Amino acid sequence: MAEWRVAGDGAGNATEKTCAHLPGPVDVSSASALECVDCLVEGSQWVHLRQCLECGEVRCCDQSPRHHATTHYREAAHPLMRSAQPDEEWGWCYVDELFLLAD
Ligand SMILES: [Zn+2]
Ligand SMILES: [Zn+2]
Ligand SMILES: [Zn+2]
Repeated sequence: MAEWRVAGDGAGNATEKTCAHLPGPVDVSSASALECVDCLVEGSQWVHLRQCLECGEVRCCDQSPRHHATTHYREAAHPLMRSAQPDEEWGWCYVDELFLLAD
């Protein structure tokens, strides 16, 4: 289980802002396969993958043509996600527009 904290604002600068959605119920070890199922259905291709920190669903990032992670946030109202890229350790709160880091 990872403890997340606010790392910076949307521009990556230090901030006093807090995220009321933390600490999240975060057990991301149960990640499903590293693929965007919506892209697979639509025949689209993703650039990077993001994982919802509430339900563990994996979807594609905003650089991807269909940005399904943002769609998932809008539809499911799950505010927190993290990068599912193996070499990246950061998260994001859609509501507060804050970058997060896991301790
Ligand atoms: Zn938040
Ligand atoms: Zn997708
Ligand atoms: Zn979710």
